Amino acid sequence: METTIKLGISSCLLGEAVRWNGDHKLDRFLADTLGKFVEYVPVCPEVECGFGIPREPFRLVGDPDSPRFVTSRTKIDYTERMTEWARKRVIELEKEDLCGFIFKSRSPSSGMERVKVYSEKGMPVKKGVGMFARAFMEHFPLLPVEEDGRLHDLKLRENFIERIFAFKRWREGLEEKQNRGGLVDFHTRHKMLILSHSPAHHRLMGKLVARAKEVPLKELYEEYQKLFLEALRLKTTPKKNANVMIHILGYFKKQLSADEKQELLEIIGLYREGTVPLIVPITLVNHYVRKYDQPYLREQYYLHPHPLELQLRNHV
Ligand code: SF4
Repeated sequence: METTIKLGISSCLLGEAVRWNGDHKLDRFLADTLGKFVEYVPVCPEVECGFGIPREPFRLVGDPDSPRFVTSRTKIDYTERMTEWARKRVIELEKEDLCGFIFKSRSPSSGMERVKVYSEKGMPVKKGVGMFARAFMEHFPLLPVEEDGRLHDLKLRENFIERIFAFKRWREGLEEKQNRGGLVDFHTRHKMLILSHSPAHHRLMGKLVARAKEVPLKELYEEYQKLFLEALRLKTTPKKNANVMIHILGYFKKQLSADEKQELLEIIGLYREGTVPLIVPITLVNHYVRKYDQPYLREQYYLHPHPLELQLRNHV
């Protein structure tokens, strides 16, 4: 990666004591492990909006699609103040070139989904979005976003981190001079990755790139970006990953010995039935890529989508 990946994050997840009660919500994986590979841009909506520490906690009240932001006990309505601050803050964040955002779950300011919204009678429904999180997602609809709680699910974690690395590569491509050759090269190196998420998108994007010369450049980039980000949002599954690896095997067909082929097929089978994690067959595939010097496969981001140290494929 040529430049650092910048990620927005709710400040309390990095251990900053900014919560209403003066506490924090330090997440060791985010702060220490992922933190080695990204540069965080911390945002605490409530403190930055001028509410002190400690402070009375807030809650969302009313219509879940357009709730009011009020203090829980004294019921003071700060909706306008928070809305105005969030509107300005997301504009400021444009200059940070973020590749994603990690929100603190359940917060009336920062929660990305399923935040409690109370009726006037005090009954909660988990249908809300935090005030700042909503403004952020509306302003940056393409950016990958996740919550701390969901990132404890190892599949969601792998998917999110793969997406931020892919988004970074796409953005770096956009920053260079845009041309059809550059887009075709980007697509070529991401083919297997796209296939592992969505065979349907893989087909559509292949068709789009095949008629690249006929499509105006701006339209081509916009359509490709839409499909690329849409595809990566869809989850990989053992079945899809196994199919990609069988597809990859096709490139070695003539070079692998019968034993090597058998061993790889067996390991892919063990992965597919859940006996070994994805890293096991991927490591063997990478070994053959090196051994038989396969330049096309060596360039495939599917085989190295994010740093090995994050161990994301050791658990999926
Ligand atoms: S959840 Fe959001 S508003 Fe609350 S302390 Fe964390 S960053 Fe601040």
